[in-house]
Formats: sequence, C-alpha cells, structure tokens
Amino acid sequence: MNQTYRVLLVEDETHDAELNIREIKKVLPLCKFEIVDNRSAYLEVLKSYLPDIIISDYNMPSFDGLSALKIAQEVCPLTPFIMVTGSINEDTAVECMKAGAIDYVLKDSLKRLGSSVLNALEQRKIRQERMEAIETIRVNEAKYRYMFHNNPQPMWIYDADTLFFLEVNEAAVKHYGYNQDEFLSMTIKDIRPENEIAKLIEIIQHSDQHPNQAGEWTHKKKNGELIFVETISHPIVFNQRNAKHVLINDITKRKRAEEKLTRERKLLRTLIDNLPVTIYVKDVECRKVIANRADLEIIGAQSEKDVIGKTDLDTFNNEIGARGYADDKIVIDTGEPVINREEDFFDKYGNQRWLLTSKIPLSDENSKIIGLVGIGRDITEQKQAQEKILKLSKGIEQSPASIEITDTSGIIEYINPKFTETTGYLPEDVIGKHARILRSDQMSPETYNDLWETISSGGIWKKELLNKKKDGSVFWESVILTSIKNEKGIITNYIAIKEDISERKLMQAELIEAKEKAEESDRLKSAFLANMSHEIRTPLNSIIGFSELLSDDDFDEVQKADFIKTIIDNGNSLLVIISDIMDFSILEARQMKIRKELISTERLLADLVTDFSSKASLKGIEIRIDQSSVQASDIIIESDLYRIKQIFSNLIGNALKFTNKGYIEIGFNVKNEMIEFHVKDTGIGIAPEHHQTIFERFRQVDAARTRKYGGNGLGLAISKNLVELLGGTIRVESELNKYSDFSFTIPIKKIME
Ligand code: ADP
Repeated sequence: MNQTYRVLLVEDETHDAELNIREIKKVLPLCKFEIVDNRSAYLEVLKSYLPDIIISDYNMPSFDGLSALKIAQEVCPLTPFIMVTGSINEDTAVECMKAGAIDYVLKDSLKRLGSSVLNALEQRKIRQERMEAIETIRVNEAKYRYMFHNNPQPMWIYDADTLFFLEVNEAAVKHYGYNQDEFLSMTIKDIRPENEIAKLIEIIQHSDQHPNQAGEWTHKKKNGELIFVETISHPIVFNQRNAKHVLINDITKRKRAEEKLTRERKLLRTLIDNLPVTIYVKDVECRKVIANRADLEIIGAQSEKDVIGKTDLDTFNNEIGARGYADDKIVIDTGEPVINREEDFFDKYGNQRWLLTSKIPLSDENSKIIGLVGIGRDITEQKQAQEKILKLSKGIEQSPASIEITDTSGIIEYINPKFTETTGYLPEDVIGKHARILRSDQMSPETYNDLWETISSGGIWKKELLNKKKDGSVFWESVILTSIKNEKGIITNYIAIKEDISERKLMQAELIEAKEKAEESDRLKSAFLANMSHEIRTPLNSIIGFSELLSDDDFDEVQKADFIKTIIDNGNSLLVIISDIMDFSILEARQMKIRKELISTERLLADLVTDFSSKASLKGIEIRIDQSSVQASDIIIESDLYRIKQIFSNLIGNALKFTNKGYIEIGFNVKNEMIEFHVKDTGIGIAPEHHQTIFERFRQVDAARTRKYGGNGLGLAISKNLVELLGGTIRVESELNKYSDFSFTIPIKKIME
C-alpha cells in the first residue's frame, strides 16, 4: 500500500506511540502521523488535520480513549477509530464497540495493529462509497422531482391499472386548470371527451405490445375547452405500481393552423378549379405539379394524376409539346416570364384550339427559381370570330359589288375598293361625309324619304338609283340597303350593297328599242302590205279597166290613144313599185352588185335635170343645178352610175312629190376624199323627229301624208342602203313647211365593197 494516510495517534506515552508507528509503518510505510495527548489538542487536530484514521490509548492521565471516540463520532463519524489498551475486559471491549470503535488492539498483541488499520481503512472506504451512492440517489431524485415539477411541458404519471393520476406537474396543472388534488382524484378518462374514451381504452388494452406510445388526442380542460395534444408515454414503476409517464404537447395551435391551411388550400383549389382559365404549376424540371380542371379539360385528361409529373413533351404531340417545353425552359432558365403567348393545339376531338398563355417564374425565399405558374385563357372563340371577321372584311374588300357603310345619320364610315372603282371617290374623299354626296338630282325626294323610312325601321330597301360619280356623271345602281344591328337589336350602322347597272340599263334600253322596232316593223309591214296592195291594185285596175275599154267600139281612136297612154303610165308605175321591191329584196339579201365606171359629175347633174325637167315643169316647179356646182370644175369619180342615178331619182322623185311650189336644186361639194351630192326642195319639209326614221324601210312620216301623196316607204331605205353600199352616208336637213335638203356622200376614188 503506497497511499499516504494521515494517522492521528492519541497517546501520552512516547514509547507506546513509537511502537504504534512502527507497527503501522510495516503495512503503510508512507503514512503521516500526528500525536496528541489531551482534549483541546485533539479537537484542534481533528479539524485541521482531517485524519484518515484515529488510534487512541484507552487510559491516559489527562484524557481517555472513550471521550476521544465520542468526540470523533460527532466531528467525523466516518473516520475509523481503533482503541489500543493495556488490558481489557469484555465489558470495556463491548463498550468501545458500541461507542463506534471499529476495533480494539491489546498492547501485548500490538502486531495485530497493522492489519487492523488496513481493515479499518478498507471498511471506511466501503462506507464512504455507500454514503456517496445514497447521496447521489438522493440528489438525483431531488433533481428529477425538480425537473418533473418545473418542466414547462405538461406531464403526469398515471396508474396503468386504475388509470388514476399519481403525479401531475405544475405545467399540467396550469394548462388543464385542475389543481393537484383534483388531478389526483381523477383518472385519465376524465380529461377525454366522450367520443374518445372507447379509443383510449382500446389503446390501453393493447399497450403491452407498444410500451412506448405516441399519439394524437383531444383533451378536455377543466373549463370544457377541447385541445389537441400529442402524447408520448412510456411505462415506469412508480411507488411499486405499474404506471405510465406521459409527456403532453399541446398542438392545438398547430392543428388549427393546419386546419386553416387545409381549408384555405381547399378554397384555393375550389377557386382555381372553377376559374374559366387554365392554371398549372410546374417544377424546375418543367413537370406538372398542379393542374386545374380547365387545364385537364384542355388536355383531355381524366384526372390530375394523369398529368402530374409529366412535362409538355409527354403530354402533347411532338411539335406542340416541344414548343411548350421550350417556353417552360426559358422561363425557368432566365427567370423571365412569358406573357400572352398565343398557342394553338388540338383538343381530344382533334379540333384546333387557341390558348393565350402566360408563364410566370416561381422562386423560393432565396430567389432561386423553383418552377413556374402557367395561366392560359381559351381564346378559340375569339380567334374564330377574328378569322370570321377577317374573312368577312376580305369578302367586303374584294366584293365585286360596291359596299358602303354609314353610321345611323348617314355619315360614311367605310367604302370598299369597288366603290372607288365605280364612283371615282377615294376613301378620303367620302369618309366622314354624308352619303347624299352620291345623289343625282334626278331621283324624286320621295325616293330618299322612302329609303330612310325603310332602313331606319329595320327593313331592307331594294331599288335602282340614278347616282352621281365624283366626275359629276350619273349612272344607274341597283341598291340594297339595310341596317346593321348590335346584339341588343339596336341599329348601329347602315350598309349599302350596290351594283353598277348602267350597262344592263343600256342593254335593256337597246332591247326595248329592238323590241319596239320589231313591233314597229311588224306594224309597218302590215301597213306596207295594205298600202302596197293599194299601190299595186291602183295601176293594175287602171291597166285592166282601160285595156277593156280599148275593145269597146264606143270610144274613138283619140280617146283610145289616151287610154293607151294611161295604161302605159300605170304600167310604168307598177314597174317602179315592183322594181323597188325587187331592189330592196336584193339589197336586204346583200346580193346587189356594183358596177364601177368613171362618172363625170357635170354630166350626171345635167342628165338628171334633163330627165326630170318635164315632170317638174308639169308641177310648175323649177329644177336646177346649184350655183356653186355649176361654177365648180368637173369632177370624175369612180362609182356605179346606175345606182347613183337611182339614188338621185328617189330623192328628186320625193322632192317633186312633196313640193308644190318653188324649186328643186341639185348639186355637190367635195369633202376630202368624198363628194357630197344634195337634193334640196322647197316642199312641205319633215319634222325633226322623223329625220332618222324616214330612212328605215316602210317608214313614212304619217298615214295622212301617205294617203295624200302615195308611196311605199321604200325609196329612202333603198337609197340609204345603196349609198352605204357605195361607201358613203346619207342625211337630211329639213324644216317643216319650208324645205328639205337630202345629201349623200360617195368616195371619189376608192370604192368600198
Ligand atoms: P315614199 O315612197 O313614201 O315616198 P320614201 O322612203 O321615199 O317613201 O319616203 C319616206 C317618207 O319621207 C315619205 O313618205 C315622206 O313622208 C317623207 N319624204 C321623203 N322625201 C321628202 C321630201 N323631199 N319632202 C318631204 N317629205 C319627204
């Protein structure tokens, strides 16, 4: 034993003390010694020296061993005390041991002292250790109790069999409102709402399988308030009872927050599911994590599960998927939103649809992009309407009809290109002006009144209008006018759809004219036939009548010569009529042949005067060549002399017929390559309205005149045809009851076929 012990010797005999020291040093060579022989020194040394062991003589002159032992028991009860005595009886020994000495050693067997000291020290050590252990337990228990009672978390211990509370801490008292005594008179069932008791019993019954339990419960406070708690319990033995130590964590706030969150989530979800826009959220890998109902509908998915975790590449076909995915990536990579992107796609029925999509990046609290939110509005109907409008406006722009749109007061708001083409007005000329800019003053005010009345009452007005172009010229338009109404049925505009019908009108007029002409021609033909039968019958009657008279002997030769002359005259008349009809038929059949020869105008006019002078003088009328023609030098033309003479005969014949006094003048002028002949008389003249018609076949000025002057209405028609056949034209100038001047041209050299 190399440990150093402090040994206190209570001894008055130095010799004895040394003997003791020697014996002790045999077993504990490193010991230190202190020797005292009286009470006061002993008390002093006990306090200052703190000996590990006390060895005392039983009998001393100024002190005694038993007193020393008693003092030691009071001051340092753990320090072992060995009594050394010279002689000892049994009573002394018992007294010493009772008083607390650990051993006693007789002076004659002092050799035992060493082992006694060792033994005493050993026992002291054991005792000390036990004391320390007890102290530790005591301290620990105190600590535990302190911790239990002062723990801010409510906790209790309950009897596992009776369920009575055995111990409840302050926090529990405070939290639940029951005081200690109330708690200790209750079981854990008393703090449960009725509906949880069955569950509680069930759990307790099976608690053997799960000694440590955690669970969520509803507890009832003293004031009746229900709270949500999370409990952790584990079995312990408490006061020799099977018990459970329970830790309680009030999670009411968290629960309420969770419930609120759940409610809010539900509300939000209901909201986004019922919004008529597609809403979805994607993660940083562009995979969907939320998709609302509109989004599912557009994709054609049955439930959110079908799209969650998928990218656009998985959801849509190649091109559309790739486009969507690329946009997603841009938003996530750059953090820049994509706003109002028009995207088309095909729905589950294969119909093309359009979405107006915005994709907005989502970031966490550190501004790190964690995904995106997509919001899309189905603009298919809008698109279709736009396209329809585009089509319609193109249709209007390119319409072959001219279209004009006005506001309700008639101010022009729009015209199409055809309008410009038809009227010459550019949009800038008419937009903002009243539609009356187109009016010609040739339509009655009633027409326009009717128009406005019809369209302002919502009707369709359909008529033909004579309108005015930019250049002032007028033209016919077929007009359909109607109102444009808004969805409330209120008129917002008027639209006019118009067609330029000038040509049609012209054609109509021509057709009417042609029809009238045909009717007139028919009528004329009938008149002609009636007239012709008269014209033919008259000379024929004379011829037949006078021929019969020739065989009558009652008439003399002179009379008969007169009859013969009448027969010849009538025969000639008949010949003229028949040859006229023949000529006309040949001309109409375009079978008339022209025989060209050189003609001297001088000769021609002179011959004509000679031919007709006798007939003229019979009527007392002069026939002459006009002065300028007489003075003009002779002109040679190449034409058909026979036909020119025929024309002249007709004209001079008429002049003779319709002139009773005055003169007939024939002559010519040269105009460029043409020669113009004329036959002028001072007869009854022709009213202007007949100047054109008299050249048509069977045309005569009127029936009265025909009856009076006779004729078949073919002469001028034949003349006109002949003039034209020879390459010229014929016209008349005349004034009623004054004169008639017929003139016709003939090419001088060139003869037209
Ligand atoms: P008709 O055989 O009836 O004379 P024409 O064709 O020669 O037929 O003439 C047509 C009509 O034109 C005549 O019936 C007559 O009314 C009118 N007319 C022609 N020449 C003259 C004239 N020189 N003066 C007045 N009227 C004329």
